[in-house]
Amino acid sequence: MVDQPLFSSKQVVCRFLVTAGPTVEAIDPVRFISNRSTGKMGYAIAAEFAARGADVVLVSGPTCLDAPEGVRCVDVVSAEDMYRECVALWPEMDGAVMCAAVADYTPAKVSDAKIKKTESSRFSIDLVPTKDIAAELGRTKRAGQLLVGFALETDNEEANALGKLERKNLDMIVLNSLRDEGAGFGGDTNRITIYSGGRNGGKTVFPLESKTAAAAHIVDFIESLP
Ligand code: C5P
Repeated sequence: MVDQPLFSSKQVVCRFLVTAGPTVEAIDPVRFISNRSTGKMGYAIAAEFAARGADVVLVSGPTCLDAPEGVRCVDVVSAEDMYRECVALWPEMDGAVMCAAVADYTPAKVSDAKIKKTESSRFSIDLVPTKDIAAELGRTKRAGQLLVGFALETDNEEANALGKLERKNLDMIVLNSLRDEGAGFGGDTNRITIYSGGRNGGKTVFPLESKTAAAAHIVDFIESLP
């Protein structure tokens, strides 16, 4: 954290959208599909922006975390909810950090009643792809807006991160690998690598550190971008 509120030292207070947490995709009134995201990384980034004087909206899937001080929190459940909120907020924003672990697939239909076990041992759910929120913000990004994504990978980390940077029209992507001990979901630490400036742009590797320290590095990096 810094003493001087940097984002408000400019003429107009910067407005940042941060997404965080998992999304939860209902199967029936009882069951759902989700993932292991706790939201800690996104909440730490939102808190860091707010501490530096930015106006922050945190669009979060279900987590056990309290809203960081000075941050406006919009609670959502599904990928579709998160998409709707983010697309509506984006035109007013100076930038967005897409930290949420958005479900890639959602049930094609949600059963109104609890699905009963049948005699047959197999059960399948028809899944359809969710909308890619980061890609939509990238597609509609206007000059001066900054879009940051995350890539959580288990293999081909660099190639996958660079592919997403390009495909989603991001200005910067933060990679964390589940192969690194202490990185990724759940814990309080992370080991991040930041790519910016396209496929032939810069690469900065950070050591294993607390998610709070990683958040400060990410926000430092955003401030340093032209
Ligand atoms: O899921 P994937 O690895 O493609 O996620 C990369 C980036 O895109 C992350 O920043 C994530 O928050 C964002 N994303 C999104 N909407 C999706 C899928 C991913 O905003 N449906």
